[in-house]
Amino acid sequence: MENPVLITDIQKFAVNDGPGFRTNVFLKGCPLKCLWCHNPETIAPYPEIYWKSRLCTQCGACLEVCPNDAINPPIPPEESQSENSTYHKIIRDRCDRCMKCVEICPYDALTIVGKPMSVDEILDEVEKDRLFYENSGGGMTLSGGEPTTHEDFSDKLLKGARQRGLHSCLDTNGFCDWNVLKSLIKNVDIVLFDLKHLDPEMHKKDTGTGNEIILKNLGLLLETGIETWVRIPVIPNFNDSMDFHKLASDYLAGFAGKIARVDLLPFHNYCQDKYKWLGIDWALKDEDAIEPSFLEIPADLYREKGLLTTVGGSGFENTAESTG
Ligand code: SF4
Ligand code: SF4
Repeated sequence: MENPVLITDIQKFAVNDGPGFRTNVFLKGCPLKCLWCHNPETIAPYPEIYWKSRLCTQCGACLEVCPNDAINPPIPPEESQSENSTYHKIIRDRCDRCMKCVEICPYDALTIVGKPMSVDEILDEVEKDRLFYENSGGGMTLSGGEPTTHEDFSDKLLKGARQRGLHSCLDTNGFCDWNVLKSLIKNVDIVLFDLKHLDPEMHKKDTGTGNEIILKNLGLLLETGIETWVRIPVIPNFNDSMDFHKLASDYLAGFAGKIARVDLLPFHNYCQDKYKWLGIDWALKDEDAIEPSFLEIPADLYREKGLLTTVGGSGFENTAESTG
C-alpha cells in the first residue's frame, strides 16, 4: 500500500506566506536538502520522532520497549539538557519508527512529527478561519516540504479549497516535472516560487540539486500568466552578497511585467530547537539571523529594475510604498 501523505503542521494566522491571514498546511517530504532549511521536519517523507530533552527525566522506560537497541542509555537529565550536549535519546540509523517508545513515554518527551490527515479533515480545519480570510484577503497556503512531490494529494486539496471558495497559494521550490506544476496551478490563485541561487554549482552544493529544472519551470510558469511571487531566502555565505542580488535582480527583471512581486526572506535561526529535537547537528547553528533592515539595500536593486519588492514577505505589506 502506498504510504500516506503526512502533515507536520497546520499553522494559523500566518502573515508571510501570501496575502492576508493564511492557514499554512505543511506537507512532509521534499526532494531538496537545503542546508538552512527552516522546517527540517518536513524533509523526510516518513514520520519522525522529536525528543525534547527538557521534558525527559531519563526514566529509561523507552529503552525497555525498543526492539532495535535504538535508544541511548540514560544519562543525568542535567547533562543531557546542557547547552553543549551531543546526547540524543534516539540512534536514528537503528530506529525503524515502530513508535513503541513514543507510546510508553510518560512525560511526552517523545512525540511523532508527521501525521496522516484526509483532504476533508484539512479543509475543515482551514475553513474554521474563513471569516478572517474574508476580512483580510487571506486563505490557505499549501507548503512543505514540497507539495509537488505529492501531486495527487495536493491536487485534491487545492481542488477542494477552490470548491469551498477558499483562496489558495501554492508554495513551491519548483523542482518537479513541469506537467505536475502546470496541472496543480489550475486550482491555485497565487504561486509562491522559491529562487535560491542562479549558479548551478552553488545551488547543488547547498541544496543537493542543480537549479536547471527550477529555472526552466519558473520561465514556463511566468508564461502562463498566473500571479507569481518570487521568494528568495537570503542565506549567509550563500546568496547574501550584493553581487548575487545584482545578478538575480537582472535575471528577474528579464521577466518584465510577469512577476507580481519579489520577497527577500532573511535567514533566521528560530528553527534550532527542531534540529535538536530531531537529533540533527545543524551546520548553520552558530550563524546569526540576518537583520531584516539589512536587506533594504539589496531590495532597492530589485526595485530600481521595476520589481515590486518586500523584505520579509508580509501579506499586509504596503507594497505601493515598497516599490521604491
Ligand atoms: S520514556 Fe520519555 S522521559 Fe523516559 S527516558 Fe524515554 S524519553 Fe525520557
Ligand atoms: S521508534 Fe525507534 S527508537 Fe522508538 S522504540 Fe521503535 S525502533 Fe526504538
